[in-house]
Amino acid sequence: MIKVTDLHKSFGDNEVLTGITTDIDAQEVVCVIGPSGSGKSTFLRCLNRLEDITSGEVVIDGVNIADPKTNINKVRQDVGMVFQHFNLFPHKSVLENVTLAPLKVKHETKEEARSHSLDLLGKVGLSDKADDYPSSLSGGQKQRVAIARSLSMNPKIMLFDEPTSALDPELVGDVLAVMKDLANEGMTMVVVTHEMGFAKEVGDRVFFMDEGKMVEEGTPEQVFEQTSHERTKSFLSKIL
Ligand code: ADP
Ligand code: MG
Repeated sequence: MIKVTDLHKSFGDNEVLTGITTDIDAQEVVCVIGPSGSGKSTFLRCLNRLEDITSGEVVIDGVNIADPKTNINKVRQDVGMVFQHFNLFPHKSVLENVTLAPLKVKHETKEEARSHSLDLLGKVGLSDKADDYPSSLSGGQKQRVAIARSLSMNPKIMLFDEPTSALDPELVGDVLAVMKDLANEGMTMVVVTHEMGFAKEVGDRVFFMDEGKMVEEGTPEQVFEQTSHERTKSFLSKIL
């Protein structure tokens, strides 16, 4: 589903990704861990070309998105993204936040968009909040609306960049539970996270990044319990 070959990304003179090569299968859940500034967000953003790719290839379901001729709007429909900060539209209701893109971009009818979005709000446990405004929701509820909003485009892949890092601890579990359901339904997911419990339980593989490199890729067991990489050991010793 995702094939990355020798991906380089620089900001000016600062080479932030220094040649990443990896594959992610359909329905796989990959958790990306690593120190702050190691390039995790940049890697994720290159997967839907929120960042221009300096060199290398990123192929999403057969389409090379690094190619300037690729229709990037189609790529962004196929690759949903959820951020640390949810950026809901404050003056639109929860339901309107979710139906907006299907109406504008996919040209669904009002009825189609409404019915699909209500299903999605049900899936994230917020059916009863459809007519409320974001300001009345908790952070965890807002993030679940943001997930429903991303899903409204029927993406093939979902990218999550520290989706629970801005939440109060007691609100993290509900968001992780929604992500776990999504994983169980077979969504292909790449999740940058500090939630090691989630990575262990839900991740099919864990990627450890450091200084713009993919230091290690393995099953959660291989990375968390059997790593022979000094950098992984040192990182894990600080957080576990
Ligand atoms: P992580 O998500 O692992 O904390 P990032 O991908 O956000 O790391 O950042 C990696 C490096 O890239 C950092 O040194 C950061 O300062 C730099 N960087 C990220 N985004 C930009 C940008 N838009 N412009 C310039 N430098 C950036
Ligand atoms: Mg980041």
